Amino acid sequence: MKYVICPQCESEVPETAITCPFCKFGILVYLEEQKEAKEQEKEKQ
Ligand SMILES: [Zn+2]
Repeated sequence: MKYVICPQCESEVPETAITCPFCKFGILVYLEEQKEAKEQEKEKQ
C-alpha cells in the first residue's frame, strides 16, 4: 500500500484514506487538489 505524508500532522497516511486518522485532515481532497494543480501546470506549457 502506498503512503502519503499528511501536510497537517506529518504522519504517514494510507493513500486510500479519505481523512487523516491522526488529525482528521481531509487528505483525499488535498491530494485531488494537488493533482489538479499539476494538471493545470501541464496545460499552461
Ligand atoms: Zn494528519
